[in-house]
Amino acid sequence: MLKVGITGGIGSGKTTVCRIFEVLGIPVFYADLVAKEIMVKDMILIEGVKTAFGAESYFETGVLNNKHIAGIVFNNNLELEKLNALVHPAVFRAFDQWITQVPKDCPYILKEAALLFESASYKMCDTSILVTAPKQTKLNRVIERDGVSAEQVLARMDKQFTDEQKLAMAHHHISNDESTSLILQVLALHQTFLNTNT
Ligand code: ATP
Repeated sequence: MLKVGITGGIGSGKTTVCRIFEVLGIPVFYADLVAKEIMVKDMILIEGVKTAFGAESYFETGVLNNKHIAGIVFNNNLELEKLNALVHPAVFRAFDQWITQVPKDCPYILKEAALLFESASYKMCDTSILVTAPKQTKLNRVIERDGVSAEQVLARMDKQFTDEQKLAMAHHHISNDESTSLILQVLALHQTFLNTNT
């Protein structure tokens, strides 16, 4: 089964694009959502986090102590890499498990990940889509969606590869700049993937 990785900068609209693929019946694995879920479910990961960042990484109830973890990894790339080295393999394990549940007659699946290229998880996909939008559009959308400041969004953007870097790595491109129909672009790619599979 064809595995399609899909990514894009913060606020580019990758989740919105995935929802359109879902309407077409294509299963989507949301890696970032799954990463949050497994932080409190995957025992190997939980033990790894406690060993790396202390038992206080979790409250007694089992809830993740986000403030503690963020305090350690924020602005400390080495610690962030340590956390990623624990989380990414756990997400791969969850993906391997998820794909076994996908019906065999499904033509292809999507794997959505904000850091598809940065985390090297694109290597486990057969092909990839990059969703882009102008920087100001992304900023406005995220400020509106999350109620955060422009500075906070810009700080998150700084941690991601630039669109130019990702365009050089992606096989397909969807431009979510409001001048071209998202639906038409998705339909065209859907057809491409159906043809690839047959
Ligand atoms: P993140 O990386 O932060 O999860 P994302 O790339 O998944 O972001 P979305 O959540 O899909 O982006 O989109 C960001 C916001 O912009 C959402 O509120 C979404 O509804 C809105 N949005 C996306 N595309 C469009 C569009 N073409 N027109 C209007 N609003 C849009």
